[in-house]
Formats: sequence, C-alpha cells, structure tokens
Amino acid sequence: MSTSELHGELRRAVRELCARFPDEYWRGLDAERSYPEAFVKAMTEASFLSALIPEEYGGLGFGVTEASIILEEVNRSGGNAGACHAQMYTMGTLLRHGSEEQKQQYLPKIASGELRLQAFGVTEPNTGSDTTQLRTTATRQGDHYRIRGQKVFISRVEHSDLLLLLARTTPRDQVKKRSEGLSVFLVDLREAVGNGLTVNPFDTMMNHATTALFFDDLEVPAENLIGEEGRGFRYILDGMNAERILIAAECIGDGDWFIERATNYAKSRVVFERPIGQNQGIQFPIARAHVNVRAADLMRFRAAELFDRGEPCGAESNMAKLLAADASWEAANVAIQTHGGYGFAVEYDVERKFRETRLYQVAPISTNLILSYVAEHVLGLPRSY
Ligand SMILES: Cc1cc2nc3c(=O)[nH]c(=O)nc-3n(C[C@H](O)[C@H](O)[C@H](O)COP(=O)(O)OP(=O)(O)OC[C@H]3O[C@@H](n4cnc5c(N)ncnc54)[C@H](O)[C@@H]3O)c2cc1C
Repeated sequence: MSTSELHGELRRAVRELCARFPDEYWRGLDAERSYPEAFVKAMTEASFLSALIPEEYGGLGFGVTEASIILEEVNRSGGNAGACHAQMYTMGTLLRHGSEEQKQQYLPKIASGELRLQAFGVTEPNTGSDTTQLRTTATRQGDHYRIRGQKVFISRVEHSDLLLLLARTTPRDQVKKRSEGLSVFLVDLREAVGNGLTVNPFDTMMNHATTALFFDDLEVPAENLIGEEGRGFRYILDGMNAERILIAAECIGDGDWFIERATNYAKSRVVFERPIGQNQGIQFPIARAHVNVRAADLMRFRAAELFDRGEPCGAESNMAKLLAADASWEAANVAIQTHGGYGFAVEYDVERKFRETRLYQVAPISTNLILSYVAEHVLGLPRSY
C-alpha cells in the first residue's frame, strides 16, 4: 500500500469510528462536563491511540504524520481529541528514555488499553510558562522519591492510570543551568491518589477534565524514574515537537470543520431573498480562513515529515502549531459570524467548538512563547526572558 493509500484508509477508518459519536454525543458531554469515556474506549480498541507505540510493544508503529491524521480526523468530525491526545505524546518520553524493563512493563499494556497514560504534569501555579523554575521537588530517600509541591491545569488525571510528572531533584542553586536538575517520573495514580496526592477537579471554559494536584510527601518508587536523574527537562523537550505537530493537526481538523459548517450555512440561509453566501462580505472571510488553514496544513505536514525522518524540526513544529492555531481560531470566528445569532445557539455546536479551539492559543504553549522561540532560535535575536 502506498503512503497516500495508507493515509486515505486511515482517514476513512477514523471517520467511520467518529460517525458513531455525532454532535449530540459531544454536546451532551459538554453540558454535563463529563469525559468521553465511550469514545476513548472505542479509540483505544481500534488501536488508534497506540499509533506511535512500536509494533514490538503491541502498537501500530506509525509515525507522527499518521498519528496527526488520526487526531485531525477526530476534530474534523466535530469531536475533541483533547480527551485523549496526551497518550500519544507523553508515551514518547517513556519510549525514548525509559529502560527496556519499563518499556516492557508499560507499553504493551498502554497499547492494549489495560493502562492509560493520559496525564502529563508540568504546569505549576507560581511559575507558569517558565517551566525550569518549577517548585515541585522529588527527594531521593532510599528506594523511593518523596514528592512535594503543586501542579495546576493537569488534565485527564481522573481518567488515567499513569501520570508523567516533571519535578526538581537537584535544587536550582546547585546546578549550572536552570534546565538541569529536573527529572521525569511515571506516577501510578491508582496508588498515589489519597496516599500523598490530592486531585482537585475544576471547571474551565470547555469540557477538558482539568485538575489541580497537591503532592504532600507522595512516595514514588525509585524504579519509576525515567532515564537519568536531572535530565528530565531535556526528555520533555524531546517530546514537544511531536506535541506541537499533533495539536497543529487538531487545529487543522477544527479549521476545516468550521469552514464546512460556515459554507453550508452560508449556502442555505436566505435573508434579503438570497443566500447570505452570495454576499462577498460573507464569502471572503470564509475563503480567507480556508486559505489560511491550507497554508498551515502544509507547514504541519512539513514538520511531521522532518520529525518522522529524525531530522531537526523545532522551528517547523512550532511554526505549524502557531499557524494552525491561528487559522482554526480565525475559522471559528468566521463560523460564528456567518451563523449570526445561531452561532451562539448550543444546538449548532459552533459555540462549543469555538470555545474548544480557543485553548490552542494558550496551551500547551502560548502563542507568545512560540514567537519568542522563533525570534531567538530561528532569527538569532537576543533572548527576551
Ligand atoms: C484547559 C487546559 C488544559 C491544560 N492541560 C495541561 C496539562 O495536562 N498538563 C500541563 O502540564 N499543563 C496543562 N495546561 C497548562 C498550559 O500548558 C499553560 O496554561 C500554558 O503553558 C501557559 O501557562 P500559564 O497558564 O501559567 O500562563 P503564564 O505563563 O502565566 O502566561 C500568561 C500570559 O503571559 C504570556 N507570557 C508569559 N511570559 C511571556 C514572555 N516572556 N513573553 C511574552 N509573553 C509572555 C503568555 O503567553 C500568556 O499569554 C493546560 C491549560 C489549560 C487552560
């Protein structure tokens, strides 16, 4: 099968699965603020969430290109891949930096769905985007580490068995560079919750199962350290390009969904005795949004291609995420405007998707921080922070 046939088949298979979870499904969950359990189960059973796990560990052994197509199609169908995307990119840290024993222990179970690795704990209330300043500490005591600190906006913890956690193992004043002395741990949430880890869910603008975490002397076995102590920040950075590409693809899916909805509505809504889509004031913003989504999509595939060839792709991955998040947000605004008052009506789903896609201007990395990256690392301008 050629690559384009494979991609076509993959798109068809994901679309078929998503058709079982129509607008009403996502709308109902949004109203109740509940987790798309049945959808995530179906995605797991169809092996889509194990796309990036190598075949020897029971996964599909695909590249980021294919994984991104899977998530794109979820959002393109009107769903929200945010409920399960983390399993794809968090797993990369374990795959690239875990020991063979850890990989044997966890990856086949993650691939089969016996274990979920959907939670990723980096952000803290007091340090935000300045990740290397994080204050959660992990102190080695005999055969375990003792974790103290707080995290915020940690999503899907209540729906995951494992959490990938970034914590400081060497105090900042004892390392040469602030990115040193941080370590990554695989925390077994089934044992941790209630035994040193408190999980406080809180509501956000959209249905995202987000929580604040409080670590009060949580004991994590030393064998759950991933890779070498003190090198965790580098390991997390390694996974960030994949994360950027996958989120970019979700934004492309959103953008196409908004454009399709806006176009269909513009054709069918008749005001002043003609379809509103006959007015250039309605046509042009939709056409422009489409142009911008297509341009962002090229950068997304360029970044994915470089990633899958093992070539440097930091600039392209960041630019893809920025362009795609901007394009989906533009398309979301256009869709609301085209729908007039109905854009605000819950039953049209545009307002839900509008709220959902807005997140990608801020998380997992905000637009400003991407621009800083490009300014400093691509253009050689002085570091601004
Ligand atoms: C729904 C949701 C789910 C999330 N899920 C997770 C998760 O599962 N795991 C996790 O670890 N995190 C998660 N996050 C956190 C997310 O990654 C952060 O919110 C994001 O990285 C920004 O950090 P902050 O909120 O602390 O903003 P801040 O760092 O306080 O930034 C606030 C604003 O200031 C701007 N800013 C900050 N510094 C600069 C600068 N030097 N130059 C220019 N502008 C600057 C930022 O761009 C931003 O617009 C989630 C967030 C949300 C909202």
